[in-house]
Amino acid sequence: MNIHFKAKFPLSEIKKRKMTMWRYRESIPIENDENIVSFDEGFTPLLSISVQGKAIWVKQDHLFQSGSYKDRGASVLVSHLKEIGVDRVVEDSSGNAGAAVAAYCAKAGVKCDIFVEERISPAKILQITAYGAKIHKVHGLREEAAKAVLDETEKKYYASHVYNPYFLQGTKTFAYEVAEQLGWKAPDVVILPVGNGTLLLGTYIGFVELFKAKIVEKIPKIVAVQALNCAPLATAFSKGDDAKIDAKKTIAEGIAIMRPIRAKQILDAVKKTSGHFITVKENEIIQSSTWLAKKGYHAEPTAAATFAGVQKYVGKMNTNELIISTVTGHGLKHTEVDLSFTRW
Ligand SMILES: *Cc1c(COP(=O)(O)O)cnc(C)c1O
Repeated sequence: MNIHFKAKFPLSEIKKRKMTMWRYRESIPIENDENIVSFDEGFTPLLSISVQGKAIWVKQDHLFQSGSYKDRGASVLVSHLKEIGVDRVVEDSSGNAGAAVAAYCAKAGVKCDIFVEERISPAKILQITAYGAKIHKVHGLREEAAKAVLDETEKKYYASHVYNPYFLQGTKTFAYEVAEQLGWKAPDVVILPVGNGTLLLGTYIGFVELFKAKIVEKIPKIVAVQALNCAPLATAFSKGDDAKIDAKKTIAEGIAIMRPIRAKQILDAVKKTSGHFITVKENEIIQSSTWLAKKGYHAEPTAAATFAGVQKYVGKMNTNELIISTVTGHGLKHTEVDLSFTRW
């Protein structure tokens, strides 16, 4: 399911409002202001990082209340829950979506059960339970957690960051903020990590809306980064939908999605923008993580994977393009795994 309505951007009004993602109020489909569940999130800094001598603009989306960009989606999704009067939800997640939904449910007073696969980062489990949500560990992979949660949804509302279209109505604010921070224009390229595509699709929806409203002149090329060890979308993009993939474990747990439900939509968005996929190896992800940290950015491995992709993109293209990327998740979410890697 997707939501279709006409986004509006009254720029002079928007400029007067607080610097949060809710300043684009007319474009977020929540009817009553009283239902908004917000920590004044968003409008994250857009900073320049030099990659092989080229300036890349990087949104600091690890600086959200729960430490990842997923708060964009959770804020709108939980506001919607309030609007329709839901007081109990279930969600399944590889970690960050669960943490984000749990944080916003805590604020809204909504009871929350989160299903996770057994092996997710202990720091994320700790974070989810700290917010008061109940954790259900499911044996096996991420897909098993998704199956287990479906059995529960007969009794409780399924606050899924993947299926529920309100989540994308939040993640699309990434595009609005980028455009505003560039002086109401679109960049040439946006390089994003992709697993289930909640950031990628949100970004695409956001730029399409800005383009239709004639706020920006084009929709940027979307370049999507996947871990080589789990790259179903990159494989389908280059070899077709039926291509067989052989997935292995990856340190980029946030994008380790074997069967992304919105695969077709994601492939379409990348194709329509003349974008492409980049895959990155485990050692490249770890190197990127160290490289970012040495510049003062402590990113979790999933977020560092993006920069292994940025390095490859910049290395190949001798380009004057205006490139945007983002740090999607905070390094503190992965502390115990990093400790076992010993960087020093
Ligand atoms: C969820 C997540 C992603 C990828 O999001 P998808 O919706 O699965 O494409 C990237 N980085 C981090 C840190 C995440 O938590």
